[in-house]
Amino acid sequence: MSDWKLPWSGACLCGRVQVHVTEAPVFASACHCRACQKLTGGAYSLTLMLPASGLSVEGETEIGGLHNPVPEHHFCPSCKTWLFTRGIADGQFVNLRPSLLDDGAWVRPYADTYVTERLSGAQSGARIGYPEFPPVEDYAELMSGYAREGVRPD
Ligand SMILES: [Zn+2]
Ligand SMILES: [Zn+2]
Repeated sequence: MSDWKLPWSGACLCGRVQVHVTEAPVFASACHCRACQKLTGGAYSLTLMLPASGLSVEGETEIGGLHNPVPEHHFCPSCKTWLFTRGIADGQFVNLRPSLLDDGAWVRPYADTYVTERLSGAQSGARIGYPEFPPVEDYAELMSGYAREGVRPD
């Protein structure tokens, strides 16, 4: 899938943590839940779901959020940028915050989640909306839709 123009690099605000992406994302979403609003300080969080083997990290991270074992929210220990979330689907995937990417302006979520908690006026550009998280049985179709027509880098 050369049209993803891999690899990609990115960093936290202060640059102590660097991320490198070497495998294509399997999904992109925007989560409007109240927890994501608090974690980001923004209207919603953006996720690029990657195969866990497709993300490498340079620099120490620390666990933040609610400190639950799953999912594990990783932050930069210095600037406190929310970086990525591990433990998705038994550790098969990692959810990267695409705002970290050096060149991430192309990123467009495919689905909105938790639209029941969406702030008025918060529009992500996603084509599908779910009241909460998509039911597990919808993921295969969502991922094949994203593989087929998900927005690629320019
Ligand atoms: Zn930092
Ligand atoms: Zn959320």
